[in-house]
Formats: sequence, structure tokens, C-alpha cells
Amino acid sequence: MDLLYKSTRGDSQPVTASQAILKGLADDGGLYVPTVLPKLEVSLQELAKMNYQETAYEVMKLFFTDFTEQELKDCIKKAYDQKFDIEEIVSIVKADEAYYLELFHGSTIAFKDMALSILPHLMITAAKKNGVKNDIVILTATSGDTGKAALAGFADIEGTKIIVFYPKNGVSPIQEKQMLTQKGKNTYVVGITGNFDDAQTGVKELFHDKQLAKELEEAGFQFSSANSINIGRLVPQIVYYVYTYAHLLAEGEIKENESIHVAVPTGNFGNILAAYYAKNMGILIDKLICASNENKVLYDFFTTGIYDKNRDFILTSSPSMDILISSNLERLIYRIGGEDDKNNKLLMEQLKKEGKYEITEQMKQKLCDFYGGYATEEQIKEKIKKLYEKAGYVIDTHTAVASVVYDKFKKETEDRTKTVIASTASPYKFTRSVLDAIDIKYDEWEDFALVDELSQISGVAVPEAMEEIRTAPILHHKVCRPEEMREMVKEILNGKSSR
Ligand SMILES: *Cc1c(COP(=O)(O)O)cnc(C)c1O
Repeated sequence: MDLLYKSTRGDSQPVTASQAILKGLADDGGLYVPTVLPKLEVSLQELAKMNYQETAYEVMKLFFTDFTEQELKDCIKKAYDQKFDIEEIVSIVKADEAYYLELFHGSTIAFKDMALSILPHLMITAAKKNGVKNDIVILTATSGDTGKAALAGFADIEGTKIIVFYPKNGVSPIQEKQMLTQKGKNTYVVGITGNFDDAQTGVKELFHDKQLAKELEEAGFQFSSANSINIGRLVPQIVYYVYTYAHLLAEGEIKENESIHVAVPTGNFGNILAAYYAKNMGILIDKLICASNENKVLYDFFTTGIYDKNRDFILTSSPSMDILISSNLERLIYRIGGEDDKNNKLLMEQLKKEGKYEITEQMKQKLCDFYGGYATEEQIKEKIKKLYEKAGYVIDTHTAVASVVYDKFKKETEDRTKTVIASTASPYKFTRSVLDAIDIKYDEWEDFALVDELSQISGVAVPEAMEEIRTAPILHHKVCRPEEMREMVKEILNGKSSR
């Protein structure tokens, strides 16, 4: 029997895994969740002997039950290959009494590669399975990181095209260069003369534009989304928690039956939800430490039971976590509410209308696995500097958020359980913020001089991804106003438009 996926809002029919991957979001606006959360079928001892790809298969086969063994193994093989700069795919570095789980060894040096390198393969396999003849067009709005990771994942994947919109003056110079140098004949990058919200709103409108969908259908295209709410992104993220626990066991860092904590720098709540799923599948994770930056909606939620996005949006040095609506939280709310889709729908409607909802006392009690915390800009800087001085290890600003919150947790609870901190971006991706934290003298330096300096002081070679963009030619030149996005998409798909 196939594992089916149902909507958290209850007004859509259950679908298979491949259909859920193709659709992304359910028609009623809810998120797809598995009707039962599977348990691991192999022992931790067996898992400890497996490499990353084998572990990925053990996890994914439980969720994507309508894929054949061959299909899944093919997807895994194509995703986790030499695109990653280490054979192990992820690495676990012990520094100052914590385990940093480096998830940034993929082609865009941030953790989104972990899922976005496999999603395209899952998606085209899903399209074949469901008799989809159209080419899949991925539309994405990005504030920097997701866009590049999605471009790299979908580049030259047969049967797909990807169009990324980004705020022309709203991403870092390195992020912009990463996108504009993207190769692949099916990739399109367009700057918007507006902010990220304009790009995001524009993309949402295109997704809901029935007339456009009809025109595209006639031309042999259909839209899909590579957004982090897609279960094709969520499930691959469970893998690294399973892999990490098993490897800490194999290396004797933890004993049999010993629990660990995980600390995750959180924005859209995808990464930490994957850890929660890993726990529910049988991995011995005790506390899930949810770390926010100054946009601390989640911290407030975990301490009060009230989710309230009515507040100023703060631009921080950890931009990938500058988020006020953590979409994936809906899956947790649904679960702690006893899978009551009617009530979940009411809460989400309230969030949409009033920007706010409150959970019941009973639901709140089920959040005891989570510890919420946040880090200020000052604390982030201090942590990067201190860790570098003490252990010679350089972390990026996002990882530092989790590290600060873990320190607070330790201080508050005096709990010394071994803890894994998800390290979500290479310090090279945020070189300026990282070096500024270590020494103010770097303030005046130019971007690539900083890159070389980071290599000097950290002893870590400049990643290939960084070397490439240093000299790569700019391949994308399109810019448009937000109201021109629809025409732009049509031009691109008509093949009438140059880059
Ligand atoms: C996206 C991102 C995050 C946040 O992950 P979520 O799954 O959205 O919570 C944290 N750090 C980095 C570097 C990211 O790119």
C-alpha cells in the first residue's frame, strides 16, 4: 500500500508522494503531510555502516513509496555526486564542545543544496509516473540563497525550465554574481526594480493566473514550485539527521541509547521540522533547539503560544532567516493539534486575516520537545569572533545564531547533553559579515580580497563555487518592473527572448 499525503486543511483529496511533489501545495492552500509518519526499518547499528547515499535511500523509500527502488536510487545517485566537494556529502566538525554539522558542501555552499540537488530529479520522475507531457516550469522569487540553489539544481535538467526573479538592488553582490553567472540553457534570471515582497507577490499572482495557465498548457508548459514547503524538499532533509546520529554512534562519540540535542538556525521552519520528523521516526533526539535572529516570531511563539507576525521586519546579517511567516510551522501546528484539519484551517485563516493566532494549552504542552531562543546582531558577531579565537573554527552568521542560542540553553538549563548544531552556510558565502565580526579592520576591503583573507586565517581552501564566480562571465541581463513579470514569463517561454 502506498503512503498517501493529505492536506493540513482538509479540503483536498489525498495524493501519492509523486503527485504531492508535482503539486507542491494542496489545492486548498494547505501543506501535504504523510497520513502516517513511518518508522525506520533498519537498526541504528546497520545505519552506522551506511554512507550518505545508502542512508538517503533508507529514509526516502519510506516516504516516496510510489517510486521504484531503481527510480529512487537513480535520483539519489544523480543528486549526491561530485557536485559536493567532499565524498561524505556532509561533515561533522567538533569545536568548543559542540558538533557542527556542515551542510554546505554542495554547489552553492549553503544547506539548501541538500534538498535542491535532488528535487529536480524527483520532480521529473514524478512527472513521468503521472503521465505529464508538459515541460515543468519552476518559478521562484528569491532574496538570495534559494534562487541560486534552485538554478544550480534545475540547470540542464531535461523537461524543465527555471525562471528566478530577484530584487535588483536587494541581494548581496556575491549572491547576485552567483545567479547572473549561472550556466544552463534552461535557466533564466530576472532582476525586478522592486523589493523581495514585490517579486514574491508577483510570482504568487502568476501561480494563480488561470488565463496564463491555460495559455501555457497550450504551449506545452506547466508551473511548479521548488518552495521549501514541497515534501520533495522536506524529506531529503531528514536524511542528514539520521546519518549524523548513526555516525556519532559509529565513531564512539555517543553510546548506544544516548540521546542528543539538535540546534537549528530557523527561518521557514523546514530544517528543524525535518529533525522533528527524524525524532518521530526513531532517532534519539531529545531537544530541538529552534534558533531565530532578531525576527524572533518563533521564539515568542514557543514562549507564549501566540504566533504574531504584526511587527517590523528587521534586516539582519543572517538574511536567509529574515522571515515573519514560517510556512512549515503549519505542519507542526497540525500535528500537535491532533491532526484536526478544521481547526488548523481556522488558525491559518486567522493568520492570514489578523496576522496572528493562539494555540490551546493542550497543544502548548506538546511543544515541550522544543526550546526557542534568539540571537541579537551583537551576540552573533561576538560568537563568531570567540569561536574563531578559541577553536580556530570560522562559522557563518546563520550558524552563529544557532550557536548563540545553544550557549543560552546550556547556561539556563545546565544541560550537558551532546548537541549537534546545523551549520547551514559556508562562511565564504557571508565573507564580509564574518570577517567584520572578527576584526573591524576589514571594513574597507573589497569582496574577493576578503575571500582570500578568509582562506588565510581559517586554513580552509576557497570553495570551488567561489573560485568559479570570481572570473565567470555574466550570462543574464534581464531587468523588469514588477508589473511586467507576466509578459516576461511569456516571452521567455515563447523562446522569443534573449537573455
Ligand atoms: C534557508 C536558510 C536557513 C533557514 O532554514 P529554514 O528551513 O527555512 O528554517 C538557515 N540558514 C541558511 C543559510 C539558509 O539558507
